[in-house]
Amino acid sequence: MLRALHYRVEPKEPARCACGHDRTNVMVSPSAEYTFGGWCLILIGISATPTAVNYVCRRCGQKLERITDPKEIAETRLWG
Ligand SMILES: [Zn+2]
Repeated sequence: MLRALHYRVEPKEPARCACGHDRTNVMVSPSAEYTFGGWCLILIGISATPTAVNYVCRRCGQKLERITDPKEIAETRLWG
């Protein structure tokens, strides 16, 4: 029992920018990163899956986090 507690995974402290916003703050927006091929698909009206999602603070412009895990990207609500 004690051993199990010892190996418990501690929740990670969320990354914060200079203003103290974390990625759940309204001032922090996810911004998608596409490959060149992805952009081409978007230009012709086909939605592409981003290769990465950056969480950027709109106030100070600091990048809080960059997500490259396809599963997490799929779960990120980029539009709406
Ligand atoms: Zn900020």
